[in-house]
Amino acid sequence: MSGLSVKSGFSVKSGFVETDEQKELRAAVSKLGARFDYVDYVLPRSRQNQPLTELWAEAGKHGFLGVNLPEEYGGGGAGIYELALVQEELAAHGAGLLLIVVSPAICGTVIGKFGTEEQKQKWLPSLADGSSIMAFGITEADAGSNSHHITTTARRDGADWILHGSKIFISGVDQADAVLVVARTEDSKTGKLKPALFIVPTDAPNFVKQPMEMDILEPDTQFTLFFDDVRLPAEALVGEPDAALAQLFAGLNPERILGAAMAVGMGRYALDAATAFAKERAVWKTPIGAHQGISHPLAQVKIELELAKLMMQKAAVLYDSGDDSGAAEAANMAKYAAAEASIKALDQAIQTHGGAGLTKEYGLAAMLGAARIARVAPVSREMILNFVAQHSLGLPRSY
Ligand SMILES: Cc1cc2nc3c(=O)[nH]c(=O)nc-3n(C[C@H](O)[C@H](O)[C@H](O)COP(=O)(O)OP(=O)(O)OC[C@H]3O[C@@H](n4cnc5c(N)ncnc54)[C@H](O)[C@@H]3O)c2cc1C
Repeated sequence: MSGLSVKSGFSVKSGFVETDEQKELRAAVSKLGARFDYVDYVLPRSRQNQPLTELWAEAGKHGFLGVNLPEEYGGGGAGIYELALVQEELAAHGAGLLLIVVSPAICGTVIGKFGTEEQKQKWLPSLADGSSIMAFGITEADAGSNSHHITTTARRDGADWILHGSKIFISGVDQADAVLVVARTEDSKTGKLKPALFIVPTDAPNFVKQPMEMDILEPDTQFTLFFDDVRLPAEALVGEPDAALAQLFAGLNPERILGAAMAVGMGRYALDAATAFAKERAVWKTPIGAHQGISHPLAQVKIELELAKLMMQKAAVLYDSGDDSGAAEAANMAKYAAAEASIKALDQAIQTHGGAGLTKEYGLAAMLGAARIARVAPVSREMILNFVAQHSLGLPRSY
C-alpha cells in the first residue's frame, strides 16, 4: 500500500494490535477526512440536505469504500475491520458516511457471500469504487422492529417476480442505483411465506419513492418506498431462495459493526472539539479544562468511547475470522456501547462549550440529533438489550 490508495494485499490480523497496513490506512483516511471536515463541508451540506457526493467519490477512488470486498471483484480484499476503521476515521472528522453502512457493508457483503456470479460481476466492482450505491430496505411501517412481520411480497409470474408492498426510513435511495429489498416469497412446498432478497433498480417502473421529512440534521435523506407490482427479472433474486435467512443474517453483523464505527468516530469528533475548547476558553484564571467539573466528564467520555471501540474491534475480528455467532453478541454490544458513548460525548461537548455549544457556528447541537440515530437504527437500544438478555443471559423473552 502506498500514499492514499488502497488496492490490495492486506494480511490477516489477529488480536487488537493494528498492523502497519491498518495504521497506514487510518492515517490515509484521516487525511481525507480532514479535507472534508464537519464545520466547513458536512455541516453546510447537511443544512441544505445535500449528500456528501465529493467525499464519497474521493473515498471510492482511493479504495476506501471497497476495502472489505473481494480483490477479484475490485475490492481491497481486507475485512469488516478495515471498513469499520475507514468509517471511524471519517466520522472522527464529523464526516462519517451513512451509506457505507448499507452499500459496501450490508449489500456488498450479502452479494459477495451469496450472490450469483453474474450479480458479483455486475455489482461488486462498482460498489467497491463507489461508482454504484445500493441502499438496503427492510423496515416497514407496520412491522417496525418486528421484521418477522414484514408484508412486502414477491410472487412468481412466469420467470419474473412481481414485488408488492412498501418500506419506510430507507436511507439514500436518491443516491442509489438499486435497493436490496427484503421481501417474502411463498414456499412452493409448504405455502408459508419466507424471506427473500431482491435487487430492485431505483428506476424500475411502478417503484415510487417519497422523501421523508426528518427533524435531524444529516446529509442523507430517508424515503418511504412503494412497490406497486414492480416486475423484476428472475436474476433480481439474490442467491438461492432457500438461503435467504442466512443471507440476511450475513449482513447484520457488518451493519452493526459499521454503525458502531460511525458512532465511535462521531464521539471522537465531539470529544476533540470539547477538549480543544476547554484548553482555550478561560473565564476565571485558568482554562475551563482545569475545572474538574469540565475535565472529569470528558475523561469519562474518553474511557467509554475507548471501551466501545474495543468491543467494536473485537466484533470485527470475530466476524472476519468467520465466527458469526461470537461476532453477533460483540457487534450488538459494540453498537449499544458506541451509541451511548457518542450521545454522551455530544451532550458533554455541548455543555463544555456553554452557549457556544448551541450556536450554528459549532454545529454540535445539530450533531447530537444525528448521534441519536445510532440509538434507534439499524437496531434499537431496546432490541439489543433483548438480544443480550436472551442470548447472553438465557432469560425468557416477553414478546
Ligand atoms: C435516520 C434513520 C435511517 C434509517 N435507515 C434505514 C435504512 O436504510 N433501511 C432500513 O431498512 N431501515 C432504516 N431505518 C429504520 C430503523 O432500522 C428503524 O427505525 C429501527 O429498526 C426501529 O424501528 P421503528 O422505528 O419501527 O421502531 P419500533 O419498532 O416502532 O419501536 C419503537 C420503540 O419501541 C421499542 N420496542 C419495540 N419492540 C420492543 C420490545 N420487544 N422490547 C422493548 N422495546 C421494544 C423500540 O426499541 C423503540 O424504542 C432508519 C431509521 C432512521 C431513524
